[in-house]
Amino acid sequence: MTERLKGPAGPAFNPLFPAHDRREVLDRYVGASLNRAMGKNGTRGVTPSAEYGRFRSDLQAMDFADSQAPEAVVDWMIGALDTGMVHTTSPGYLGLFNPKPTFPAEIGDRIAAAFNPQACVWSHAPIAVDIEKHLIEAVAKQAGLPLGSGGHFTSGGSEANATAFLCALMAAERGFAEDGTAAFSGRPRIYISDESHLAWLKIAKQSGVGQLSVCRIQTDGSGRMDADRLRDAIENDLRSGKRPIMIAATAGTTNAGMIDPLHACRGLADEFGLWFHVDAAWGGALICSTQHRHELAGIDSADSITIDAHKWFASTMGTGMFLIREPSLLPQVFGVSTSYMPSNDEAIDPYVNSFQWSRRFLGIRLFMSLAIGGWAAYEDHIEHSIRLANRFANELTQYGWVHANSSPMAIACLRPPPGAPDVEEIVAKVIELGTHWISVANYEGQPVIRICVTNYETDWAHLAALVTLLRSIVE
Ligand SMILES: *Cc1c(COP(=O)(O)O)cnc(C)c1O
Repeated sequence: MTERLKGPAGPAFNPLFPAHDRREVLDRYVGASLNRAMGKNGTRGVTPSAEYGRFRSDLQAMDFADSQAPEAVVDWMIGALDTGMVHTTSPGYLGLFNPKPTFPAEIGDRIAAAFNPQACVWSHAPIAVDIEKHLIEAVAKQAGLPLGSGGHFTSGGSEANATAFLCALMAAERGFAEDGTAAFSGRPRIYISDESHLAWLKIAKQSGVGQLSVCRIQTDGSGRMDADRLRDAIENDLRSGKRPIMIAATAGTTNAGMIDPLHACRGLADEFGLWFHVDAAWGGALICSTQHRHELAGIDSADSITIDAHKWFASTMGTGMFLIREPSLLPQVFGVSTSYMPSNDEAIDPYVNSFQWSRRFLGIRLFMSLAIGGWAAYEDHIEHSIRLANRFANELTQYGWVHANSSPMAIACLRPPPGAPDVEEIVAKVIELGTHWISVANYEGQPVIRICVTNYETDWAHLAALVTLLRSIVE
């Protein structure tokens, strides 16, 4: 386009970049519309209610040949999301680790979007980079890591775990940076439990070692990595010429919220010279609770830790954290130097210490939450969730249900009483009714109904209603 668009009044006008007064009007419009939609959380269903066919034809008809009034597009988009998704922000959502975000995190997102700092180099966005560093150090301290530990924000737990694996490969073999897996004489091996997150399989593929490098250790009958079997696996691998690299323990398994034996894993890592990583993507939030923190004992001995702020810390999507005891390893893994970048200072520039290059100011979400609420607000949130999940499990056991897991976190896995329909059928009925969202999990070889509390607005009334509903389906 050679000529700038002309507005009705004459001067250059482009709807993508509205003038200040127009921007203010639109901003108020979006705020009011969003607040109306969020105000429905208590009353609308959890499951999608949209006529999907209509949405599809609307979407198909959009070829972007014409412009539209921004208000119309905002209305369409809010309406579409309002009816076209599983409402993870609803108090009846008792599903995976998807939170209702804290309002400070939402505000942080908004502020970051407006200023859009480029946080890949310190010199472009010193305040953003310093805030993230300060936060990572505060979280590392809260997790019990020593002074001098570091890390960075990531897109999520998968990126953080992948970072851990690259660090472990680098620590095992300095030639890894140049030669990749060719630096290893035997196949690199990483040890996880059967209950670990399957992100590890993707990570093995992405990193180039391949899925055969992943050794899944059987659990001990209660969802935890079996330390004896772990030792056997490492010794077997050594005998057959493989190269053990890393033990990745999970603190807060996805199915059942169980914690692998962290002390035993650290012991084996020391004995065989391996990297010890703790994947606490969801469960890491226990560090906020004075009452429950001790359950994570041993996490402070990890070489690296994953904690997702977008799970129990209730940040908006895409906020992971990677914590590392020896941050000086990171530039060995990720360091590059190019003439067009303003700097490549290993001590402060995020792009030479992490996967990402251009970097959104992710930490602002957690920063706003912690600055406004302090650790105490998180402590309240975490303990509230745990109390509710326990009360729910206790209530159902009085009606003959079996509480299958004994997690210190806010997950209850339950088996219905004898003679009840299959758990798949029960869960499908609940989801169809649309007041609650729960899931089927497989725990130690048996299907269970899994409920997880991550929303601060969930209260006992929501869970009591679910108890009544489940009993009515079963009896
Ligand atoms: C969620 C989760 C992951 C994956 O993290 P993403 O943020 O979804 O990339 C890995 N491990 C555990 C234990 C998790 O709970």
